[in-house]
Amino acid sequence: MLRISELKLPLGHTPEAMKPAIIERLGIKADDLEGFEIARRAHDARRKSAILMVYTVDVSLRDEAAVLARFAGDHHVRVRPDTSYKLVAKAPEGFDGPRPVVIGAGPCGLFAGLILAQMGLKPIIVDRGKVVRERTKDTWGLWRRGELNPESNVQFGEGGAGTFSDGKLYSQIKDPRFLGRKVLEEFVKAGAPEEILTEAHPHIGTFRLVHMVEQMRALIESLGGEYRWRNKVEDFDIEVGADGSRRLKGLHIAGGDYVPTTHVVMALGHSARDTFQTLYDRGVHIEAKPFSIGVRIEHPQSWMDRARFGDCAGHPDLGAADYSLSHHCANGRTVYSFCMCPGGTVVAATSEPERVVTNGMSQYSRNERNANSGFVVGIDPERDYPGHPLAGVAFQRKWESLAYVAGGSSYRAPGQKVGDFLAGRPSSALGEVTPSYKPGVTLTDLSTCLPDFVIEAMREALPVFGRQIPGYDHPDVLLTGVETRTSSPVRITRGKDFQSVNTAGLYPAGEGAGYAGGILSAAVDGIKVAEAVALAYVAEGLIP
Ligand code: FAD
Repeated sequence: MLRISELKLPLGHTPEAMKPAIIERLGIKADDLEGFEIARRAHDARRKSAILMVYTVDVSLRDEAAVLARFAGDHHVRVRPDTSYKLVAKAPEGFDGPRPVVIGAGPCGLFAGLILAQMGLKPIIVDRGKVVRERTKDTWGLWRRGELNPESNVQFGEGGAGTFSDGKLYSQIKDPRFLGRKVLEEFVKAGAPEEILTEAHPHIGTFRLVHMVEQMRALIESLGGEYRWRNKVEDFDIEVGADGSRRLKGLHIAGGDYVPTTHVVMALGHSARDTFQTLYDRGVHIEAKPFSIGVRIEHPQSWMDRARFGDCAGHPDLGAADYSLSHHCANGRTVYSFCMCPGGTVVAATSEPERVVTNGMSQYSRNERNANSGFVVGIDPERDYPGHPLAGVAFQRKWESLAYVAGGSSYRAPGQKVGDFLAGRPSSALGEVTPSYKPGVTLTDLSTCLPDFVIEAMREALPVFGRQIPGYDHPDVLLTGVETRTSSPVRITRGKDFQSVNTAGLYPAGEGAGYAGGILSAAVDGIKVAEAVALAYVAEGLIP
C-alpha cells in the first residue's frame, strides 16, 4: 500500500469526493485504484473563508511500483509504514520467576504493566489510590463538598492524573517506532471510539476514560498481572555494595508490607511529593527541572469557535475550537497556553490539604459553555528555585498555599477578571463569563498568589494573544488560580538502560520522573521502560 499525505478537500465535502481526489492527485485511471482507507484527518483553518480538511490516505493500486517511481522525491507519496507493534521479549509459558513491580496506575504505569503482562512477566502494579469508581466518589467529594482525601483525588488512584481530564491523546514526541499507535489501538480495544486512530487531535473525555481503565485492568489481570490498591510505596530498600554500587532489593508499603523485587518501573506522576522526598533521602539521583506556573483562563466556547472558524463555527466536521498560543516577553519569560480544554470545566486538582491547584477537563461531547486552558509562564531552577533538587516542590507549595488563603481557606479558588487583572485592582463582580470551577471561585486579586514576574509576563501576553484571537483578553474573561502542576518539578535521571543513574533496578518513568508530559507521551514512555525491563530480564538470564 502507498500513503498519500496532505490531501486537501473543502470543508463539508461528501465521502464520495475522496476517490476522485486520490485519482487526480496520483494522475491514475479510476480502475487503477483498488481501495483506500483514511489514516489521518485534520483541518486547516488558517483561512476562515476557505477551511480545508487535510487527509493522510492509504491506497491500494494496481501498479504501486510505477506510481512510486513517478513520485520519487515527493515525500507526500510513499510506501505505507509498518505501524504494527512487536514485543521485544516473551517469557516462557507459565513463567514463575521474579515478578517486576510497577508503581503507579496512571497512563505510564498502565502501559508498562500491560506490555510486561503481554510479555508474560506477570507484573505487580501497586498504587496508593483506589479503583477508579471509588476514586471518582472521593474526587467529587472535593469538588462538591470541599472535602479532600489526600490519597484518593484527581492526582492519585486508578488511571492516574489523566482520568478526570479532557483525554487529549496527542503529543509532540518523536515516535519513529509508532508506539503512540500501539497506545491508541489498546485504548480502542478498551472502549475508546475508533476515530482516535485517525483524528489528528483525538480526545476521549473523562467518562470514557473511567470505563477504559477498568477494561485495561481486566486485560492485565487476565494475562497474569496483579493490582494492589491503597498500597503506597513508603520506602525503598536499596543495597549499597562495598564499592558504593547501589541496587534495589524491595519496596516497603505503608502499613507494613514488604515486596521483594529487583526490577521496579517507577511511574509516580508529578504530584508524588512525599515519594520524591523519600527517594532523595535514600540517595537516589534526582534533580530540579523547569516547569510552568500561572492560571486557568476561561472564555465562552462560542467566542473561540467564532474567532477560529468564522461563519463555519459549529460545523460538525470541526467540533469545538481549540487554540495554542505562545509569547516571548520582554522580561525573558515565555507565556503559553497549556492543556486547552474546549467546552469543558476548570477542576480542583490539589492532592494536598489547604492548597489550591487548577486544571481542566471535559466530556467527549465538549459541549459545556466555557473553553478553558492553562495560561502559564515558564520557570527554571537556576533563576527561580535554585539550590536544592526539591526546591521546585517548595516553590509550588508556597503559591498553592497562598491561593488557598486568597480563595477563602475553603478550597474555593481565587479568581479575577482580565480587565481588573490588567488594571491591577481586585475583582468584585463577575461579568459575561460564569466560572465553572467547583467548589467555587472567590473574586480577589491574583497578584497575592503568584510571583511578580509571572504577573508581569501574563499582563504583557494578554493583549498579544487578544490580537491573535479576538476576545481572548476581553475584560470579562476569567482567570482562576493557581496552575502549578503543569509538569514535574524534578527529574529522576536515568541512563541509556532506562535505570536510575545511581540505583540499579529502579526504572524512573513517565511524567513524575520528568520523561513525559501528557497521557500519550506517558503511556509511550511506559512501553519503552517495560521493554527495558524485559531486555534486562533477558540479559540477566531470567528469561531466554
Ligand atoms: P500519573 O497519571 O500522575 O500517575 C501516577 C500514579 O502513581 C497515580 O495513580 C498515583 O496514585 C500513583 N502513585 C504516586 N506515588 C505513589 C506511591 N508512593 N506509591 C504508590 N503509588 C503512587 N494530559 C493529556 O495528554 N491530555 C489531557 O487532556 C490532560 N488533561 C489533564 C487534566 C487534569 C485534571 C490533570 C490533572 C492532568 C491532565 N493531563 C492531560 C496530564 C496527564 O494526566 C498526565 O500527563 C499523565 O497522567 C501522566 O501519567 P503518569 O502515568 O506519568 O503519572
